[in-house]
Amino acid sequence: MNTPADTPAPAPSPAPARPAAPPFVWSFARHETFQTCLRRYWYSYYGAWGGWRADATPAARTLYHLKRLFTRQQWTGRHIHQALENLVAHHIADPAPPAELAARTTTRELDFMRDEFRDSRTGAVQPPQAAMSGLFEHEYNLDVPIAEWKAAADRVAAAVSAFCAAPLWQKLRALPEGAILSIDRKTTFDLDGLPVRALPDLAFRDAGVLHLYDWKSDRQPLPEHRLELGTYLLLALGRWTDDPAAVRATACNPVTGETADFTYTADDVENIRDFVRDSADEMLFPLDDPESNRAPTPDAFDCTAQPDACPACPFLRICPRWRS
Ligand code: SF4
Repeated sequence: MNTPADTPAPAPSPAPARPAAPPFVWSFARHETFQTCLRRYWYSYYGAWGGWRADATPAARTLYHLKRLFTRQQWTGRHIHQALENLVAHHIADPAPPAELAARTTTRELDFMRDEFRDSRTGAVQPPQAAMSGLFEHEYNLDVPIAEWKAAADRVAAAVSAFCAAPLWQKLRALPEGAILSIDRKTTFDLDGLPVRALPDLAFRDAGVLHLYDWKSDRQPLPEHRLELGTYLLLALGRWTDDPAAVRATACNPVTGETADFTYTADDVENIRDFVRDSADEMLFPLDDPESNRAPTPDAFDCTAQPDACPACPFLRICPRWRS
């Protein structure tokens, strides 16, 4: 991949603006963005807010477009998630043999990917409600060999095949009705007055255990996801169970089939609650008005000094760190 120094000449930065105030909702992704780069955090959670509206400012429109760019690795993960979600939601009782089901699911997903790839390459404007505005590599004219795009599609196909052939899929199919717990993607839960979004990819009950699964196909070692999956436990407590010892969380790489299982004690739960509250306090501290989530202009949010944070950042072309 090209480095920031190889990227096209930067476009003029959108004029700083005091953004409208979106509701503050804590999430692990938000926490990670805040810890990685404050400027990226402002662009993502304040500057881009309202960029989908017909009367949005050019700055908000640009930031909203950039925010929804996916690198090919993120794009691959998104389609793996989408394919597995579709299988669990709509094909759990499908009598087709696993190989046939995998082939059908893969064909459908690769059709979506082909359409998105074509739209991204030609610069087709996506509707405001679309989750993805384009691919990072096309936005920044990166020279990616066709073999790497094919590898992305192959990873989706491999994940679907592995999932349909795995014991987990057979277990899910054998569960009684109601054992797979529905998850609304817009759901937030309340942590002492703090809205929190923490949704596992799959939740089900089996033999007295509440299982929470999250698909992880990035390079981060699976055991490092313990804290993130711990925030899903907070969602599960009160909603599906009162007993943390009855919960098992699993980070699973659907391509390789590798897993990491986590259990939590009551003390762990308190520590995870403290972590979320402290993280939210840290994010709300720099705001003009934490009550209304009103942020200062982006100049109050520094660009990161971490050298590895920028090469895949969607805001490269408007970021002052790279403007010179
Ligand atoms: S390009 Fe780098 S400094 Fe700029 S917003 Fe992105 S991560 Fe932050």
